[in-house]
Amino acid sequence: MAKTPWVDKDECISCELCVMGCPAVFQMDADSKAECFDPNGATEEEIQSSAIDACPVSCIHWKE
Ligand code: SF4
Repeated sequence: MAKTPWVDKDECISCELCVMGCPAVFQMDADSKAECFDPNGATEEEIQSSAIDACPVSCIHWKE
């Protein structure tokens, strides 16, 4: 995969929508902030629609 999603943890409000949308890609860390643990756990399209577009504070970004 050419692009990897990353979470701006300073902006994350711990709603867990991205984890529910892409449970094979995102998880909550010890501070209850989302993090990407497997960028290959879903297609780029799935990550875009189910996590990036779903995040209420738009704090998930693509890292090229
Ligand atoms: S959807 Fe956004 S605000 Fe919610 S847990 Fe994921 S990264 Fe954080």
